[in-house]
Amino acid sequence: MADLKPVRTYLGMPLYRPKTAFFELSSCEGCQLQLLNNEASLLDFLSLLDIVNFREAMTEKSDEFEIAFIEGSVTRSDEVERLKEIRKTANTLVAFGSCACFGGVNQMKNRLGSEWVKKEVYGDHPVESGFARPLEDIVTVDLKIFGCPIKKKEVEKIIINIALGKAVVHPVYPVCMECKANENICLFDLGEPCLGPITRGGCDSWCPNSRFGCWGCRGPADDANIDQLREIMKKHGFSEETLRDRLECFGGFSKYTEAFRKNPEKKKEGK
Ligand code: SF4
Ligand code: SF4
Ligand code: SF4
Repeated sequence: MADLKPVRTYLGMPLYRPKTAFFELSSCEGCQLQLLNNEASLLDFLSLLDIVNFREAMTEKSDEFEIAFIEGSVTRSDEVERLKEIRKTANTLVAFGSCACFGGVNQMKNRLGSEWVKKEVYGDHPVESGFARPLEDIVTVDLKIFGCPIKKKEVEKIIINIALGKAVVHPVYPVCMECKANENICLFDLGEPCLGPITRGGCDSWCPNSRFGCWGCRGPADDANIDQLREIMKKHGFSEETLRDRLECFGGFSKYTEAFRKNPEKKKEGK
């Protein structure tokens, strides 16, 4: 039977529209919502894909897909099983957003003890909610899309590359590069801490553009120099705790924060 779906073309060549599914594990679903928010380009962008599963946008469902975008971290045993099942079907599995890439804000509870957090949040209700883990703790991840939430323009570019069969390349430079290009006044000069010098770019310095310091939601840039940032923080009067709070927020810097905990600075005072 002939395929009646409209065919997209690029430079006269028909584009292959991969069957694509969006799934959510433990998450706020904010990353998926970001995609739907972009009304100006939404239809164009979505028409690049043959979307067969997207709970926030459609009621139809299918277990036949080639690309799976998975939002959220893994905190329950049923999510482990679900993730493994998705992996069996998907040719390409995408960790979608910082919860999926690093555990995200959910992983903060790992340090407090998941049982204590569960009691605080759910009281005596019998809810399963264990340690928050990134997808790659359970399955092989083919592509990571960083951010809390993801930056929709960046995702659109990535999807276009996938549709064109081009490689997806993430920025290796830090947020500071984009911040300087945007001609922002450095927040350190305004008395605010910022993880921009060590955090992977690609968000177009989203937070500093609004005069909020970066909290590192996209994880470390290549060759992130934490010791240098430690010096900068110290020079501007910010304490180790202030730096560590930010480094621990999204889970992307976990390998650095473990070293921090083993080798704490003596000085505890400061902002
Ligand atoms: S990465 Fe942030 S916006 Fe996305 S699901 Fe997790 S908490 Fe929500
Ligand atoms: S505000 Fe942050 S991101 Fe911008 S230049 Fe200063 S340290 Fe870098
Ligand atoms: S500035 Fe930092 S915290 Fe804000 S979106 Fe970019 S990487 Fe995330």
